[in-house]
Amino acid sequence: RGEAQNGLLKGLNPEQLAAVTLGQEPALILAGAGSGKTRVLTTRIAWLLNQGLATPGGIMAVTFTNKASKEMLTRLSAMLPYNVRGMWIGTFHGLCNRFLRAHWKLAGLPQGFQILDASDTVSAVKRVIKAMNLDEERFVPKQVSWFIAGAKEDGLRPKDIDLRDEQTRKLADIYQAYEDQCKREGVVDFAELMLRAYELLRDNAALREHYQHRFQYLLVDEFQDTNKLQYAWLKMFAPPGRGQGVFAVGDDDQSIYAFRGARVGNMSDFEREYRVHRVVKLEQNYRSYGHILDAANELISRNSHRLGKNLRTDMGPGEPVRVNEAASDFNEAQWLLEEAQALHRQGLARSEIAILYRSNAQSRVIESALFNAGIPYRVYGGLRFFERAEVKHALAYLRLIENANDDTSFLRVVNFPARGIGARTLELLQDAARQSGRSLYQSVAAVPGKGGSNLAAFVNLVESMRNLTQGLTLREIIEQMLATSGLADFYRTDKDGAERLENLDELVNAAEAFVTQEGFGKDAVALPVDELGAAGGFTPGQIAAGDPPAIAAVTLTPDAETGEIVSPLAAFLTHASLEAGDNQAQAGQDAIQLMTVHSAKGLEFDAVFITGLEEGLFPHENSLSDGDGLEEERRLMYVAITRARQRLYLSFSQTRMLHGQTRYNVKSRFLDELPEASLKWLTPRNQGFGSGFAREYQQAWERGSGLKSMVGAGRVERQAPAWQQEREGKDAPSFGGAPVPKTMKQAAAAKVGDEHGGLRVGKPVFHNKFGEGVLLTLEGSGPDARAQVNFGRHGTKWLALAVAKLTPID
Ligand code: ATP
Ligand code: MG
Repeated sequence: RGEAQNGLLKGLNPEQLAAVTLGQEPALILAGAGSGKTRVLTTRIAWLLNQGLATPGGIMAVTFTNKASKEMLTRLSAMLPYNVRGMWIGTFHGLCNRFLRAHWKLAGLPQGFQILDASDTVSAVKRVIKAMNLDEERFVPKQVSWFIAGAKEDGLRPKDIDLRDEQTRKLADIYQAYEDQCKREGVVDFAELMLRAYELLRDNAALREHYQHRFQYLLVDEFQDTNKLQYAWLKMFAPPGRGQGVFAVGDDDQSIYAFRGARVGNMSDFEREYRVHRVVKLEQNYRSYGHILDAANELISRNSHRLGKNLRTDMGPGEPVRVNEAASDFNEAQWLLEEAQALHRQGLARSEIAILYRSNAQSRVIESALFNAGIPYRVYGGLRFFERAEVKHALAYLRLIENANDDTSFLRVVNFPARGIGARTLELLQDAARQSGRSLYQSVAAVPGKGGSNLAAFVNLVESMRNLTQGLTLREIIEQMLATSGLADFYRTDKDGAERLENLDELVNAAEAFVTQEGFGKDAVALPVDELGAAGGFTPGQIAAGDPPAIAAVTLTPDAETGEIVSPLAAFLTHASLEAGDNQAQAGQDAIQLMTVHSAKGLEFDAVFITGLEEGLFPHENSLSDGDGLEEERRLMYVAITRARQRLYLSFSQTRMLHGQTRYNVKSRFLDELPEASLKWLTPRNQGFGSGFAREYQQAWERGSGLKSMVGAGRVERQAPAWQQEREGKDAPSFGGAPVPKTMKQAAAAKVGDEHGGLRVGKPVFHNKFGEGVLLTLEGSGPDARAQVNFGRHGTKWLALAVAKLTPID
């Protein structure tokens, strides 16, 4: 019926067709980038529904990012004549959240449980460490949070940790205390979502049976990047031998999450455990023109231990890959935006242009160039809308309305705007809460004096907010909260508050968009999950009629026992925790796409820029010490290259400000690993560092105007520590290249009077081996004195002045 009618299968090649129309059996599709894996997976869902082999409720599909699942829903809606929003299609975390919302009671969670994002998690861990009187130097909160996440991803609870040494014993204790705290506050972190869902299924046979019966078809995209827990979770829904149609799709060459516990080995395990008869391979690439594909193939051929497959295209060679060298990251950004504008003038939509970078910190310079030029752009990942301070404040108030025992939110806003509640009062409050095992909110009465009455006033404020927002729409709730909490007034009177106020308005818009998107309309009907599950979803008749009952309502994740719908507010708060906000450009506005290479996985664009191709940055310096690390970086580069359909640009810069340091760069080895015949250099090849910059640098210092004049005013400010910390965390790693340990600011401050035997920072010097250079830094004294000199062609070097013969040149 469906097949002939809508031509779903038209245009598939024979291998793709075979994969799409496989029966209800385990299958592994192993194929390179752009060979149609995702398309096959999506088409298979549509085909199963169309053939009446499955119902929307009987299919689960796992994607890797929210963006990917949205894209899949869009593709499906285009193929199918009815609303697909309610289907179980999402990321592992998204699906776990949905599952836990439905079974919160069985999972031992409060109904309105809140999700801690990465930075909330770190601050929650920090509080635990503090309460345990441990040294934050020894137990760095961020690292401890990684330890906990790692343990959870291995399926380990505190009691399961192997206590091999004293340090690990302490970490296990912190983990335990952190768990207690999360339980008290009714919050879960990302890793907990997965583990909790897994454990619930593992321990509850009836529930397991229910879901195994319900989901007849499970499809997993990007299977190469699943970790141990995710695979185990999947097996709970569809154990080998249960006869469900498990369809795994992956590419070993695109495995880029080993550092987060992904196991390529899951693919061979899957093949063995599920007794996959036949591994389907796809070798035709439909995405990229020849030069782009040649570059990708040549690069990845340098990796060992590949499962071995190649890609070919029928699309012809297309444009060569363009390579650009810039003098500074600032110039690189300028070049990017000009080139992107030119492409746009040639008729490319902005949304078809992607700017990719290895590390989030790189985006700032590019963002500011685009922003100043008034070009709409959207950043995925990085400092997201929902992570901005004012938005987090607003969300914290909303969370308190939902669940007043959420201590993280309580602490965030109890004295914001200021209410005379000081650190001392909060310490007393935290002690009281700890002793009674209750939440901060519940412990307010235990604090005496002025502090206590200020706290009581805050509790009253939250209570009145809760009362005032009863029965309001989401939009009204947020507006009411902004007024009652004092946030709106605070930013209105703050001299730098204008932008923050705009972001708060944007929050109202985001809520509005969310409500519309998720179908919280007046006709949304609540369908209890169980009804859906037991019936195996909608009947084929309903589907054939193109009229399933308001599937959208299912996204409201009604409570499994009462059938009650989670409030739009609760759903929105979850969305805020799980979703990357993309609000730099208005929804629907045509905008250039900025993202890390990691978050570009699975996506495609007409034009792709890969920036910052410098040793130490891409490949990342942390990867250089071992071969596996370098191979993972190469796979990452392979992913980046294969995102491009028509145009690919590669760029690197001689100097770069990163984490407050100037790096002097050597171009990435990956550039040398690409086929010469596919490249076109826009700047003279192998010009190398030192041609222009050193001279420019020297002249700038001699003018006494310093770097500011050279790289554009505002650059030093932009790298202020507060900004770095917000974006990168305090313990941001430094990158390779030639490290300059002083920030520009410090260097500038040190300029005057930083002298050593006639040597002056910023002045030219002579070395009998390396020749002329510019003195960048002087450190230490006596036998310890060191100098850092930029020798242009010879690179930047640190020299011991007791040994090196450096003479000033006048
Ligand atoms: P990645 O490994 O990057 O995730 P993929 O294997 O999932 O890639 P898809 O994104 O599914 O590849 O497909 C790449 C592009 O090729 C898409 O634009 C898709 O629509 C197109 N495509 C796939 N198969 C065909 C086909 N048979 N005919 C025409 N276009 C196709
Ligand atoms: Mg794909």
